[in-house]
Amino acid sequence: MYDIAIIGGGIGGLMAAYRIKQNNPDLKVIILERGYEQEKRSCPAGAGQKCLHCKVCSISGGFAGAGAFSDGKFNLGTAYGGMIGDELGEDVAMKYINQVDHVLESFSDDYPPLYRSSEELKLKCLQNNLRLLDMNVRHLGTDKNYKTMLRLIEHLRSEQVEMVSRTECVDIEKSDGGYVLQVKHREEPGTIEARKIIIATGRSGADFVKKICLKFGVHIFANSVDIGVRVEMKDAIWREFSSKIYEPKILYRTKTFEDRTRMFCFNQGGLVSAENNHGVITANGHSFAEPEKKTDNCNFAILNSIHFEGDFDKPTEYAENIARNMNFAGEGNIIVQRFGDLKRGRRTNAHRLAANSVIPTMQAFPGDLSIVMPYRALTNIIETIYALDKVAPGTANDDTLLYGCENKYYSIRPQHDGNFSIFDGVYLIGDGSGITRGLSQSGAMGLYVGDHICRD
Ligand SMILES: Cc1cc2nc3c(=O)[nH]c(=O)nc-3n(C[C@H](O)[C@H](O)[C@H](O)COP(=O)(O)OP(=O)(O)OC[C@H]3O[C@@H](n4cnc5c(N)ncnc54)[C@H](O)[C@@H]3O)c2cc1C
Repeated sequence: MYDIAIIGGGIGGLMAAYRIKQNNPDLKVIILERGYEQEKRSCPAGAGQKCLHCKVCSISGGFAGAGAFSDGKFNLGTAYGGMIGDELGEDVAMKYINQVDHVLESFSDDYPPLYRSSEELKLKCLQNNLRLLDMNVRHLGTDKNYKTMLRLIEHLRSEQVEMVSRTECVDIEKSDGGYVLQVKHREEPGTIEARKIIIATGRSGADFVKKICLKFGVHIFANSVDIGVRVEMKDAIWREFSSKIYEPKILYRTKTFEDRTRMFCFNQGGLVSAENNHGVITANGHSFAEPEKKTDNCNFAILNSIHFEGDFDKPTEYAENIARNMNFAGEGNIIVQRFGDLKRGRRTNAHRLAANSVIPTMQAFPGDLSIVMPYRALTNIIETIYALDKVAPGTANDDTLLYGCENKYYSIRPQHDGNFSIFDGVYLIGDGSGITRGLSQSGAMGLYVGDHICRD
């Protein structure tokens, strides 16, 4: 019997294992990951190509989790990226976020400097009805982030953490002195016994978490969902911001609906990319730290948060249906549209796209976002682009490209005991808990539970 079984090998699960072994090297720990070993993860479609809908997506799953090929931006604060500040209190949350930073530094041979927030840019935004969020950011870049995670995993192996790939946990049953995990190892059924469990299955494990919560009677709170677009333009337009703070994250209250929109996930010199969630393709973006891999463009997301009132408890399914329709209209792909075409109420066609001054960094279907995107969301997006144009002139140029849609799904939020235990000896951490939405906070939750479970 294992002392602790961790389900999911993303940053949350890895940090939990790291801390458990630091606290008590004798504990028998196993990590089950349904995807591949980090080194074996590769997308068969190749960069910028059409998604092949693999059973387990190598971009979002496998050891090192959804963050493996990400831009590696570590937001060292609580203003966004999750709600552990609310859950643990600001001081405790910051203590663990900073510990994530130190752990990563210990596995990196060339740790990048910190980008700090800028008072001057905050004022400029304020004067234009925009709110620039405060955050210190450590940008590892895709390559450095990948290598750092690889070293963390090697370290865990050297500490005798058993790490099993292509092993999906499909159910949990109570047993004497612990739990039996029903697993599928390379499609073959099997069982694993553990005294305690940490579920760290990320957003892609939402169905599993829901199933376990329903089975063990854990109360679930519905979460909101974000719908929006990825916006791409010449890099120079946002250079004043990106040279000073690296990643502007800006809130806006729209005039027509007084809804809150947010500009976030900024990638300087970056690429627009596709993300596969259960066969539904949505837009995302990333960038490399190496100067030779930079593009002439930058990209960021503009998102509307949609909160449902009443008993509606399927926000993710709602947003997925919009993305699915977008894929349908885009012949199985994301749709790209010039801002000038959107304003004029016409689709972007291949001819107009070929003549565009902003060259798309992702092969998407030239089309019309307005045939799928809800009116309110699209109105908010257009107003936000004009508002951002006031602080970064050129944002609202006709040649600015919008890729749709980009959705952010937040997992359901199961009730916990204050220390992230959802029932006796079973903890739920990271993005799968509905509490975190980024690498630093998911990792911080892993470290926190790694401490708590050893005291428990
Ligand atoms: C393209 C992209 C770019 C991003 N860029 C950034 C960024 O720059 N900065 C940032 O802060 N955040 C970024 N994020 C978000 C970040 O990756 C996540 O917040 C983070 O990975 C969450 O970590 P996690 O450990 O909670 O979950 P995950 O990383 O999702 O890990 C969960 C793991 O559990 C596995 N799993 C799921 N169900 C099961 C099961 N039943 N049995 C076994 N294994 C299972 C999955 O395969 C997965 O590997 C990005 C995300 C994407 C997709």
